[in-house]
Amino acid sequence: MSSTIPATLIPGDGIGPEIVDATLAALDALGAPFEWDTQVAGLAGVQAAGDPLPPAVLDSIRRTRLALKGPLETPSGGGYRSSNVRLREEFQLYANLRPARTIVPGGRYDNIDLVVVRENLEGLYIGHEHYVKIADDPHAVAMATGVNTRAGCRRILDYAFQYAIANGRKKVSIVHKANIMKALTGVFLETGLQLYEEKYKGQVQVDTVIIDACAMKLVLDPWKFDVIVTTNLFGDIVSDLVAGLVGGLGMAPGANIGENAAIFEAVHGSAPDIAGQGKANPVALMLAAAMMLDHVGRQDLAARLRQAIDATLNVDQVRTGDLGGSASTPAFAKALVARIANG
Ligand code: NAD
Repeated sequence: MSSTIPATLIPGDGIGPEIVDATLAALDALGAPFEWDTQVAGLAGVQAAGDPLPPAVLDSIRRTRLALKGPLETPSGGGYRSSNVRLREEFQLYANLRPARTIVPGGRYDNIDLVVVRENLEGLYIGHEHYVKIADDPHAVAMATGVNTRAGCRRILDYAFQYAIANGRKKVSIVHKANIMKALTGVFLETGLQLYEEKYKGQVQVDTVIIDACAMKLVLDPWKFDVIVTTNLFGDIVSDLVAGLVGGLGMAPGANIGENAAIFEAVHGSAPDIAGQGKANPVALMLAAAMMLDHVGRQDLAARLRQAIDATLNVDQVRTGDLGGSASTPAFAKALVARIANG
């Protein structure tokens, strides 16, 4: 008998609790070894504890070093700072891994299998912003500062090259905007090419692509890409684009990885427009749970989970509305659990 693995569970906001319930049903059916410590954060944290990131959440992840997280709502414009960004900073989760693979064929693009490795702690995304007052207008000018360190760039680029080699990937594309943001993203490009020459030449191919051209090429010919490594904000945008190639946000998992902790989640947000209606596709979070099983060395269970998802979608043809089906979130979970039980 294998022993249990303590892990933090954050149901999250909006559709979070619905997709977390469905994912837990799948993990239970698999006999996954996680022993959950359930915590609230985001809007649920504000409502329950007056804090979008209560200290109990941080204490729990410090102890378990492992979490499965539903989406957390962040108000746009004013309000509190994103709990997702704070979690990434707190646990130095520098690598955001976002694989995109076609599971349901027959969409606009078939046979997609690529991975976005997004730098998760630096760049323009860090939210160092302020307004400058001119005359009577306190918000006359808005300013933001981006920070990319050579050490931070090296760490994520190293991660991407190592990931590519360990997973039998052929090519790493370094995506940047060094023609315009010569310092901020120049340091990323330069570090990537240096690192490749020093450590990875001959083991994997490399190319460099400017972010705007990358967006066009991903739409015209996504099969040319394999592993994309890029800075925080570009990675945020490109990974949603890539999710669109494989059926949308409901199919896109993500992992936030650091030296001492890892947090697994869907790429999508709390989807307030469909929350509480049983319409959410739980597959993205289920695929994140499969990444979590890989992370703890249970590749056997991860493979069974992925196979069951595949069979539920394609053999049983049970799909939620975003994939053109009519199944509710619990109905999808029920069909998946039956697949796991029979597989
Ligand atoms: P969103 O990803 O929540 O929704 C975008 C669109 O995709 C919506 O139409 C939604 O209905 C649909 N969608 C998303 N997930 C789906 C699923 N599983 N099944 C079916 N349809 C799905 O993006 P948003 O509306 O821009 O953001 C809502 C909130 O989520 C914001 O507060 C934002 O800050 C937060 N957010 C959190 C995370 C996170 O926790 N990692 C990520 C992104 C956004």
